[in-house]
Amino acid sequence: MEELNSETKKAEPEPKIIGLTGGIGSGKTTVARFIEEFGFPVYYSDDRAKTIVNDNEDLKRTIKELLGEKSYDEKGIYDRKFVAEKVFNDNDLLQELNNIIHPAVRIDFEEWVSKQTKYLVFKETALLFELKLNKQCYKSLLVTAEDNIRIKRVMDRDGKTYREVETIMERQMPEKDKIKLASCIIYNNTNLEDLKLQTERIVFEIE
Ligand code: ATP
Repeated sequence: MEELNSETKKAEPEPKIIGLTGGIGSGKTTVARFIEEFGFPVYYSDDRAKTIVNDNEDLKRTIKELLGEKSYDEKGIYDRKFVAEKVFNDNDLLQELNNIIHPAVRIDFEEWVSKQTKYLVFKETALLFELKLNKQCYKSLLVTAEDNIRIKRVMDRDGKTYREVETIMERQMPEKDKIKLASCIIYNNTNLEDLKLQTERIVFEIE
């Protein structure tokens, strides 16, 4: 049979993007790890954002223009503490910083997607609905659990107090609003075996 050259070769269909989200301590990272075990690629938005603020020279320059040279230390590494203090009580500045970082993450994600070969890829982000990123996804998968369970898990994981976790939760989009927007939901109220089974069922049901 005649071999197809690059011009006659059929283009691979674009992978379907599934947005994976959940509030603090919901278990979205745990679900993401299961998804990877099942053989599907996961893009971790937060981790990538932390990398690209150090790797992307254009982004570095724009952040320095907004927040000053001190937003990077003498080794050229993003100074998270300095930036956090700078934007802590200045919502407009925080918004401006997000307006710089979020598009850079979006471009990085698009580049990542273009390299994937699986029919499904997952984008893990805490802000799927807040940033309306679900509109760019084929489906959205929400991980949720009862407030008390999430608080307890984060207290155990991070050594935070009940009130500290509760305060973070109060600043996030209410769970009932996320439930209305999600196309698939995993209820993570029991154990890890159950979580893995639910994840497996949902992931392999997506067509
Ligand atoms: P964050 O947004 O705070 O990063 P997350 O949604 O990514 O949280 P995970 O880190 O996956 O949540 O889970 C929170 C903690 O709860 C972790 O320590 C995880 O191991 C644990 N955990 C998650 N699900 C379960 C479960 N079903 N049973 C027991 N522990 C769990």
